[in-house]
Amino acid sequence: MKDNKEIKYFDYTATTPVDEDVLNTYINTTKKFFANTTSLHLLGEEAKHMYDKCIDTIKDILGVKKHNLVFTSNATEANNLAIQGIAYKYEKGKIITTKAEHPSVYNTIKSLSDKYEVVYLDIDKNGCVDIEELKKELNSDTILVSIMWVNNILGTINDIKSIIQEVKKYPKCHLHVDCVQGLCKVIPDFDFNDIDLFTFSTHKLYGPKGIGGLFFKENIDLNKRLFGSNAQYSVKPGTLDVSLIAATAKCFMKFYPQTLEMKKIVEAKFRYLYDKLAKMDGIIINTPAFNISYYILNISIPAIKGETMVHMLEAKHIYVSTGSSCSSKLENIEKTIYALTNDKQRALTSIRISLSYLVLDSELDDLINEIQNIINRWLYDTWYNVRYDTN
Ligand code: PLP
Repeated sequence: MKDNKEIKYFDYTATTPVDEDVLNTYINTTKKFFANTTSLHLLGEEAKHMYDKCIDTIKDILGVKKHNLVFTSNATEANNLAIQGIAYKYEKGKIITTKAEHPSVYNTIKSLSDKYEVVYLDIDKNGCVDIEELKKELNSDTILVSIMWVNNILGTINDIKSIIQEVKKYPKCHLHVDCVQGLCKVIPDFDFNDIDLFTFSTHKLYGPKGIGGLFFKENIDLNKRLFGSNAQYSVKPGTLDVSLIAATAKCFMKFYPQTLEMKKIVEAKFRYLYDKLAKMDGIIINTPAFNISYYILNISIPAIKGETMVHMLEAKHIYVSTGSSCSSKLENIEKTIYALTNDKQRALTSIRISLSYLVLDSELDDLINEIQNIINRWLYDTWYNVRYDTN
């Protein structure tokens, strides 16, 4: 799949390259089903039929029977529509989320805090929501709980099964789960049918950008944030891109059944990387050892800012992600690492290495060697500066 052998890519959590089969589905569908799904003529009907078939395929794969599926431009939009769609049905109420949510959830809920009572749960030392803390906060005023399945900074897996059980005890309360980093990576131990609303993003599943999705139970009447036609239950009106939808269906068809197989490949790569990095001086591993997806290894090199590290690796064609903002202001540091460690320096110096079944063993070695080289160079510079007092 990789064209450029020079590139050693470890930022699969940010986005994935498009799979060849998925791309072919996109190209073929865009050529054949270009008509508007709302047109009354035969071409429109064929496009609509294709759209319906894709929806049925995705729902069948996930086993959801009583959910509507609405396609959005990405998961950010899907999370916004879900959260605002529930919140604005109520004049007041309590919303519970966590300190470790993706900004598309965290900031959406933050924007509602003038009108609603908002609670941000801590994460425990395992990077997960403590169910006892959730139980303490849930009450009859709670209208929404929004908790992600797999964390995008640490790769930790929340206990969605228990969260479902607790939220169920409050009939007014809806559960929204951001499933972006869980789908096709982790075998769920819960039933998607038990979640009121959940979201995904196609470009995280080896599909194209520009499409995500929101599943919501058929009996939920979301407050509408966009106005237009009655397409997609009026939740996301407008002309549909059937080719992006077909590409999404292809991602689910190809990769969902391979979840376990891919996880085994990725887990072996993760363990190799973990063992090598854990032995290096100057590195702190942030991702816990258990209850994780294995797709993300987050580390801190307290001597070197995350942003600096990203660029130093980039110079060697190695691409990782910063776990922290370039700003040193507390409010801009990587909030998930800070929530986990309560350590500003660790949060500022974190980097996220994210994996895929596509990563080659030789690429892992290149990454490990380069991290070691950078640390050695830093140690040498420090030693030199101290010895010769160059400052
Ligand atoms: N939720 C999680 C957990 C994510 O990791 C991301 C993207 O990184 C998103 C939501 C937003 O996805 P999108 O890029 O499709 O808006």
